[in-house]
Amino acid sequence: MNPRQDMHVHSTFSDGRDPIEGNVAEAESLGLEQLTCVDHVRRDTSWVPEYAAAVRRVAQSTDVELACGIEAKLLDTTGALDLPGGIGDVDVIYAADHQVPLPEGPTHPREVGERIARGELAAGDVLEAIVTATARALDRDTPVVIAHFFSILPKIGLAEADAPADLIDWLAAETARTGQRIEVSERWRCPSAETLRPFASRGVPILLSTDSHSRDTIGRYDHCLDVLRELGAAA
Ligand SMILES: [Zn+2]
Ligand SMILES: [Zn+2]
Repeated sequence: MNPRQDMHVHSTFSDGRDPIEGNVAEAESLGLEQLTCVDHVRRDTSWVPEYAAAVRRVAQSTDVELACGIEAKLLDTTGALDLPGGIGDVDVIYAADHQVPLPEGPTHPREVGERIARGELAAGDVLEAIVTATARALDRDTPVVIAHFFSILPKIGLAEADAPADLIDWLAAETARTGQRIEVSERWRCPSAETLRPFASRGVPILLSTDSHSRDTIGRYDHCLDVLRELGAAA
């Protein structure tokens, strides 16, 4: 993990406040070495080629190593993502738990929490669905980063500690097998060092990310550095 990086920053191409140029200027002023531009897409998004071209253009005039990422939600337990066509120019896909990827499709976390409370769904099955969807999303030709993993749990009324260790271990093994990566998110303050430990022990790259939606939070870490220290202390 390199603290001189921010691997998840939004621009005006989706819901960020600042243009790519502004985000890169901020990264330069902080002395960051790497920045990944990440914007939200859905099945009907049509601006990805323009966006990728804009990232390439800005990359030519900065020493910051830029990558072009898109963020898409996990849809269901097959690992399908809410992606448009025509994303060949993108460097990396961020697979995100914005809704709960149940076998029948993306479901609002509050509804899932209510169904657990009514005894219609088991918490263990929900955790397994999230982890299975994530693991299956990794098996593709484009590089994938697991985005703010488990950020959805508090919205359901669950916690990272509720996830069985063997389930997390399996996901870590799948991430290593497929050569993919995971981030630790400053914005969402997850995953925990505990969750990340099996990833670290398998050599899965752990990226530092702010998930910034404006330039003034880029590259500023607190939670991420705590996680870094905890993982370092355990190594
Ligand atoms: Zn997200
Ligand atoms: Zn994001």
